[in-house]
This record gives sequence, structure tokens and C-alpha cells, in this order.
Amino acid sequence: MIFRIRQDYLRSLVFGFQDALVSTTGVVVGISAAIHDPRIIVLSALVTVSVEALSMAAGQYLSEKAVHELPNSHHEDKLITGSLFMFFSYIIGGFIPIIPIFFTIYPYSSILSVVFAFIGLFVLVFLRAKLFTGKIWRSAIEMLFVGGLATFVGLLVGSIFPK
Ligand SMILES: [Zn+2]
Repeated sequence: MIFRIRQDYLRSLVFGFQDALVSTTGVVVGISAAIHDPRIIVLSALVTVSVEALSMAAGQYLSEKAVHELPNSHHEDKLITGSLFMFFSYIIGGFIPIIPIFFTIYPYSSILSVVFAFIGLFVLVFLRAKLFTGKIWRSAIEMLFVGGLATFVGLLVGSIFPK
């Protein structure tokens, strides 16, 4: 039973961290492509992280609640605790791609954001594989694909308006 409880919280932790890394990197790279002002980039990223962290925590609460209400549910985890794990892992994950903007300028800041995000994702993949699946390479390739796609979409949308 302890493992089951731990697993629910870990899922929130991993999901929040991963989603924050991927979406914030997409925002940073996308906004940077259009506007090089670091204040605007940081502001956009912070708005994304704060709004998403709340929305993901609420989503975590509601979806987990639905699972708990199933007739055969064996879940004994606390809904609030799961949401808090989601919220804080999102905040922490979301800050990682923002860090380079504070000490370098565009385009180096964007390149470093992607590098930071991939380091974060690979650490996560490694931990996740150790804890859950055991499939490190498969997870790494999946993560690379999803992260790369999100960054590419960010870049594409960020290039909509001609300079
Ligand atoms: Zn649960």
C-alpha cells in the first residue's frame, strides 16, 4: 500500500516537472524568436509557469478525484498532497529553462534554455526509468521527440510575424 501511495505522488512529480520543462522551453524559444527583450521573455515564461502550475494542480486534483470515486478504487493517497506535488514540481521545472535568460543574451539564452531543458529531461528520464519502467533509452527517445516537437512549435509560432 505504501508503494501505491508513493507511486501516485511520484506520478504528479514526474508529470509536473516534465510538462513544465517542455512547455516553458517552447515559450522561451518561441517568444525569443520574435522579441529579444529579456524582460518580455522572462515575463511570458513566468506567466506560463504560474498559470500552468495552478491549472495542472487543479487538473491533478480533479482527475485523481474521479479515479478515487471509482467503485473498485484502492487509492489512499491524499488529493491535496498530489496537487501540491504537481504544483511545486511544475514551478521548479518551469524555472530551469528561464535561468539562462538572466545571464546571457539572445540567441545564446535560447540555445542554453534548450540545453538546460534537455539536461532536466534526461535526469527525469533516468529517475523515471529507475523507478517505474526500466526502459531508459526508449523513454529518452520519447522525451527527446516530445521536447523537440514542443520547442519546434514554439519557434514556428514565434516566427509568425515578419521582422
Ligand atoms: Zn490516488
